[in-house]
Amino acid sequence: MRCPRCQNLEDRVLDSRTVRDGQAIRRRRECIQCNKRFTTYEYIEPEEHKVRKRDGRLELYSREKLLKSIRIAFAKRPFHLDQLEQIVNQIENEIFVGENEISSSKIGELVMSIISKIDEVAYIRFASVYKRFQETGDFRSEISILRKENS
Ligand SMILES: [Zn+2]
Repeated sequence: MRCPRCQNLEDRVLDSRTVRDGQAIRRRRECIQCNKRFTTYEYIEPEEHKVRKRDGRLELYSREKLLKSIRIAFAKRPFHLDQLEQIVNQIENEIFVGENEISSSKIGELVMSIISKIDEVAYIRFASVYKRFQETGDFRSEISILRKENS
């Protein structure tokens, strides 16, 4: 770590301890050239997951965004936010198994398959947004597919 005073690259660690409930390591360092003391922190770098959009663009996966779309689908349905968080956890567990990139359509399919087993109204809402139904005919066939699957 470059010394903030003399720019020398060599230092020695005087003290090293876990802080912030184990989320970080704090190191007290001393420059071996000018003896300036300074502090550094070490964190685990969060894993970055990426989503491949339909138009080919790659964007950072956002849990917030996924949760929001699920909350919209479940609006006024008898479910707590905790339960919706659980759904997101379940989705995340399935989509990021050893992969850092997933297509948005794969996420959509997964959300639909999970929600369809939980709440029909939420499922239809989500599916209608997701698939951008143009005609009521499409909407009806989706409902009949769901009825068959659940019966
Ligand atoms: Zn120095």
